[in-house]
Amino acid sequence: MTTTITTKTYSNYINNEWVETTSGKTFASINPATKEVLGHAQSSTAEELDQAVEAAHNAKKAWRKLGQAARGQLLFKTANILEANLDEIAESMTKEMGKTLPEAKGETARGIAILRYYAGEGMRKDGDVIPSSDKDALMFTKRTPLGVVGVITPWNFPVAIPIWKIAPALVYGNTIVFKPASEAAVTASKVVECFAQAGFPEGVFNFVTGSGSVVGQGLIDHPKLNAITFTGSESVGQSVAKSASARGIKFQLEMGGKNPVIVTKNANIDQAVEGVISGAFRSSGQKCTATSRVIVEEKVFDEFKQKLINESAKITVGDGLEDGVWLGPCASESQFNTFKEYIEKGKQEGANLVHGGEVLTGDKYDKGFFVTPAIFDEVTAEMAIAQDEIFGPVIALIKASDLEDAIELANNTKYGLSASIFTSDINSILEFIDDIEVGLVRINAESAGVELQAPFGGMKASSSGSREQGEAAKDFYTAIKTVFIKGS
Ligand code: NAP
Ligand code: MG
Repeated sequence: MTTTITTKTYSNYINNEWVETTSGKTFASINPATKEVLGHAQSSTAEELDQAVEAAHNAKKAWRKLGQAARGQLLFKTANILEANLDEIAESMTKEMGKTLPEAKGETARGIAILRYYAGEGMRKDGDVIPSSDKDALMFTKRTPLGVVGVITPWNFPVAIPIWKIAPALVYGNTIVFKPASEAAVTASKVVECFAQAGFPEGVFNFVTGSGSVVGQGLIDHPKLNAITFTGSESVGQSVAKSASARGIKFQLEMGGKNPVIVTKNANIDQAVEGVISGAFRSSGQKCTATSRVIVEEKVFDEFKQKLINESAKITVGDGLEDGVWLGPCASESQFNTFKEYIEKGKQEGANLVHGGEVLTGDKYDKGFFVTPAIFDEVTAEMAIAQDEIFGPVIALIKASDLEDAIELANNTKYGLSASIFTSDINSILEFIDDIEVGLVRINAESAGVELQAPFGGMKASSSGSREQGEAAKDFYTAIKTVFIKGS
């Protein structure tokens, strides 16, 4: 049951106008802590999507010719507007997908920092001079935009992920069509309002909400799209790859993870427990870099397990808007159901549920998707809870005989996004850096956590192999022209 209160209906933003869909249909976004409707967004049709891509297509030449420095200035302006709206946007995020207010504020602040980082790119170099074998010639490279970039994002970082795609796309001279996750469409709309206020030329920034199957798939398949950047599930990512490679357009995919943490016999156990709890349970385990497997050397297994259980028992669950709440609800009913399914699956497979895994009931909890974080012991490598991305607050504890065994277990997954090791032994650290098959390697630090100025992305089935953020973004959002000039 959902209670409807008077809420705002958000529009698409196409060619600098706020427009409604001709379908006349909207969908509701729900607060997972209360099941109240937070707002509505447009259930757009292929027609609006087409208008948005057409607008982006028509705007691309003038936007490219405006120059990188002027484009950077518009991102600085957007950052200031977002900063002025930080509290409202963070609150919307907590209400829409459940993460606690301090985390939502942190994410919004990160979005602002990302905008400023890429705004600064407006004044940085866009090529290199390379000596020619002809002494009378000048040879250099120059970056050029790709054209219209499609941006498809998930609900778990509704501010940071769209911005880390959109900001570099724009500063390097691309126009965009942004399709947000439906479960985060209200927060996305508020971010789009900031871009709209900054005053980008018509058609540069377009926003269309609606289902993945109509708007998302329509965007992927649109003949006027020049590139697509996607973060989300592996199955949708694969269909992006198929469609984009068939048409020879550039694509970038960031997908799931099954991120391991290794705890060795000489680790600082308290530090490891703290890192594992934060990495596995913050945001209800719904980060692509969240810890989901903890591989512990035999010698310290029991000590680590007991301390992990003791600390997990202190976690306070509730509405993320409330002071003192450390863990909010699962982001949606579907996440809640997935959590319950995997708790059952883990038990059936013979793993031992040693902590949590319950649905919370009672006054405070009945209206929301609240659970206690779960810890399974006696997990073996072939179990579903050791292989599938659950995207919920669930830890699989796995025992390893030594470091080599631990790294082998850590690599025994189709994914390769992030991994960390807790140890005080330098040789173990060096071996881990060398042998672990992931894009984000973390030592004595939790598996989650990214810095906007450094490359972000995974190996194996977690990524298409490209990297986002930092300078790496330039490689995706631009093509290189090699120029050779002689006098006449
Ligand atoms: P999802 O279902 O794949 O959705 C991601 C986006 O794709 C949403 O905007 C969705 O729209 C859209 N979409 C759905 N079906 C589509 C289709 N057929 N064609 C085109 N677009 C389509 O993933 P999610 O459930 O939102 O997010 C969770 C997943 O994201 C997890 O697997 C997680 O690991 C991954 N993730 C990865 C990273 C990373 O950087 N590696 C970061 C965050 C999340 P609708 O919302 O309208 O369905
Ligand atoms: Mg989804």
